[in-house]
Amino acid sequence: MKTGQINVQTENIFPIIKKFLYSDHEIFLRELVSNAVDASQKLKFLASNGEFKGELGDLKVEVLLDVAEKTLTIRDNGIGMTADEIDKYINEIAFSGAEEFVEKYKGKEGAEQIIGHFGLGFYSSFMVADRVQIKTLSHTDGSQAVQWESNGSPEYTITEIEKEDRGTDIVMYISEESAEFLEKARVQGILDKYCKFLPHPVIFGTKTEYIDDPKGEKDENDKVKRVAIDIPNQVNNVSPAWTKAPVDLTTEDYTNFYREVYPTTVEDPLFHIHLNVDYPFNLTGILYFPKIKENVEVQKNKINLYSNQVFITDNVEQIVPEFLTLLHGVIDSPDIPLNVSRSYLQSDSNVKKISSHITKKVADKLAEMFRKDRKDFEDKWDDLSLFVQYGMLSDDKFADKSKSFSLLKNTDGEHFTMDEYKEKITALQTNKDEKLVILYTSSLDEQYGFVQNAKGRGYDVLDIGGPLSAHWIGKMEQSYENVTFTRVDADTLDKLIQKDIEIPSLLTKEQEESLQPLFEEVLDKQKFKINFESMDSNDAPIIITQPEFIRRMKEQQAMGGGGFFGAFPETYNLVINSNHEKISDVLNTKTKKTQDRKVKQLTDIALLAQGMLKGEALNAFIQRSIELV
Ligand code: ADP
Repeated sequence: MKTGQINVQTENIFPIIKKFLYSDHEIFLRELVSNAVDASQKLKFLASNGEFKGELGDLKVEVLLDVAEKTLTIRDNGIGMTADEIDKYINEIAFSGAEEFVEKYKGKEGAEQIIGHFGLGFYSSFMVADRVQIKTLSHTDGSQAVQWESNGSPEYTITEIEKEDRGTDIVMYISEESAEFLEKARVQGILDKYCKFLPHPVIFGTKTEYIDDPKGEKDENDKVKRVAIDIPNQVNNVSPAWTKAPVDLTTEDYTNFYREVYPTTVEDPLFHIHLNVDYPFNLTGILYFPKIKENVEVQKNKINLYSNQVFITDNVEQIVPEFLTLLHGVIDSPDIPLNVSRSYLQSDSNVKKISSHITKKVADKLAEMFRKDRKDFEDKWDDLSLFVQYGMLSDDKFADKSKSFSLLKNTDGEHFTMDEYKEKITALQTNKDEKLVILYTSSLDEQYGFVQNAKGRGYDVLDIGGPLSAHWIGKMEQSYENVTFTRVDADTLDKLIQKDIEIPSLLTKEQEESLQPLFEEVLDKQKFKINFESMDSNDAPIIITQPEFIRRMKEQQAMGGGGFFGAFPETYNLVINSNHEKISDVLNTKTKKTQDRKVKQLTDIALLAQGMLKGEALNAFIQRSIELV
């Protein structure tokens, strides 16, 4: 037996490790299992280039729980270590200035990642164990098996032991305060999270499976009996879809893999992108487009980041642009530096390249889908539009590329690119300042009457909804000169698209002035500004509008952005059609009582058309209408 001191500069690194990794003790299992997988891969490599001539056997990693002994063991039949190698790899902690380093990153976000990258992975076992043993037999001929043991102080012992099988057992005597790691379900949970796609089988206990009775015995219905058998419980899929070539995968394979990654998600994705880059950095992965719902937040941050099939994090915020966090799937890259704090990631040039590469790939894929099957792309558009809007708003390059596939949908369900649409509406929807006026509705239900009126004039109306539309419209107006977007109820039709035609008014100035007070009496003057306008006699007698500018400011404020105007007052225009016969009729009505009643009825109808008649006012309107029948 030999005793010695683990060679670190600091007196005792373990208290630091423990404290430092406090938030995430469970990663010890990832570290040890991936070491065991590495040991198997190394042996496989040696065998493939002829350096190892023995039997490889079934390379696998076993996770063994012994509740009575309070131990958790990670067993592999990989490369193993000699006493010298233990000295080299375990005792001489593989980096200098450990203390300085740990001190520097202590408590920083993402610090957990550092451990594995500085040869401290094995030592993470001391976060959960009072005592750790390494029992190992090297693959080299005639090796002597050895056991290394330490209780978390820098002292260790090395003893020669009997060990038949090649490979390494890491035995952890789980500490009192870490007793959770002796629970089967807890261990299974951690393995599911970090080890689900490791490249060598990882076995944790057994599971029951039902098969046809091998003896062929039949039940009372003359069917072969089903019998329960215990089989090894393999926690991982060793060759997940992203590691394969796209030509070897069917659409169904991609969907199945999606379900494997998100077992609780019910809806299948719309389509996927298989990423495969080897220059100037390594990256593979599959990104899925989910059907994006109005509530974007719940869908965000579902991309899982792997490094050589070891799960690292599902927080990819700094690695992919914000709008791409709406996508689902996996990214695997050994080149993403995990050993640095998150704030550093943003400025890392590899990360920047990865991020712009993914953005480009996504834009290319969308452009390709549009080109290949426009009809199918249009069918998917409702589920894609929010994502594309988000992308256009947050990434100029994406915005540029999206011009070729970003679609506008009108209220008849037809789709157009912006260029196509501009051409379609030029003839009718150019106003007297030569500006193209794009009319839209944010809700066909709520603005139905306005939409119908516009269409009645031959105008086209776009259907633009969703939480980002106010910002997106602003962006479109910036990108296209001489184009303005106006919601159909922002003004009267004649004002929305101003032509040089004047319709003469039936009312004189004096008549308008005599009508004005009648309306003022029934309306809140703070809220409504009364105007007379000589419109078509077939237009409504009264229209309530809210100027585009005011409404948009309010919407943008509600979405969180620019409170510099203070709270916007609720203001509307109440526009009286001076050419409507009902307005002349009010003027000609003899008694004030009947006049008031008519004014009230007409304004209420206008309010109703805007969905603004509510509560007591609505009830009064209903009663009055019944009496009128
Ligand atoms: P890292 O894996 O980051 O290098 P570790 O502290 O986890 O750091 O491991 C240090 C070294 O110990 C490894 O690089 C490897 O050479 C050796 N080692 C650890 N676990 C095993 C194992 N199960 N089988 C063989 N060698 C191992």
